[in-house]
Amino acid sequence: MQLIDGNAIAASIIAELKSQVAALPGRKPCLALVRVGEDPASVSYVKKKEKTAAEIGIESRIILPPVTISQAELEKLIDDLNADPGVDGILVQSPLPKPLEELAVFRRIAAHKDVDGFHTLNLGKIAQEDDSGFVACTPAGVMELLARSGTDLKGKHVVVLGRSLIVGKPVALLALQKKAGANGTVTVCHSGTADVAALTRQADVLIAAIGRAEFVKGHMVKPGAVVIDVGINRVADASKKTGYKLVGDVDFAAVSQVASKITPVPGGVGPMTVCMLMQNTLKARRLAAA
Ligand code: NAP
Repeated sequence: MQLIDGNAIAASIIAELKSQVAALPGRKPCLALVRVGEDPASVSYVKKKEKTAAEIGIESRIILPPVTISQAELEKLIDDLNADPGVDGILVQSPLPKPLEELAVFRRIAAHKDVDGFHTLNLGKIAQEDDSGFVACTPAGVMELLARSGTDLKGKHVVVLGRSLIVGKPVALLALQKKAGANGTVTVCHSGTADVAALTRQADVLIAAIGRAEFVKGHMVKPGAVVIDVGINRVADASKKTGYKLVGDVDFAAVSQVASKITPVPGGVGPMTVCMLMQNTLKARRLAAA
């Protein structure tokens, strides 16, 4: 079994991005990070993004509106960032506190600054196999992990667990694209799927993104399959200082006995998501300069 080391792959991409940013003419790329409220996971995700941006030489602008901000005020803030020529990319940290409407905010971000890739136009471009847009960071990270760990999807049955707009649907579309490295035969499972295990057992490549701790057990995986675990779930663990530990959607101990390659949690897809955000921000800067 080969462990697909997301930290190591992410480190080499960060080094590549760093030298590309250093070679850019003119000002450095600028990423606006908008975080509403004090959700602890969001606080730590935004810190990580700020730190990685600094490491690469990308400027970040942190904007922290109060949790009481209205939908109209938040959309006005996005409009101002859209109009600001000094900002290349805009990310609004998800989840937004209620009653803010996340999808409306994502759609408000100008498509050419939508480095998270959630705008309707950018999602549509994946379906049209048009590379001029931004691919959502986690699906892009999954494809990069597969490519850099030597997994070609051509001729393979790819089973995706989950159909969210953020992960499941875009990753399924990417795997389906008629392109080198992709070209997979794709099945997508969701909560309405009759027999999930019958399908996962057929997968040459299994991508789990359902948000259910250790849902995928050893008997659900075909021997020799490649398993990518997108899930990040907190489960109680009294031995940890935090009182919890992070596990994926895959039962790693059991599935690593069956799979040929597998990503760990943490240290698999997570670090790639941040890298892809930086890659998209650099792309946004280049598009703005062109
Ligand atoms: P989500 O929006 O909650 O979507 C979950 C999907 O899984 C839905 O399509 C749902 O089906 C399906 N599902 C739930 N239970 C199922 C079951 N028992 N059998 C089959 N399908 C089931 O979640 P998400 O945003 O895609 O995130 C998924 C996981 O990835 C979470 O653990 C999240 O924390 C993690 N994540 C990680 C990263 C990263 O950087 N590593 C980034 C994003 C998300 P329905 O559509 O029918 O409801």
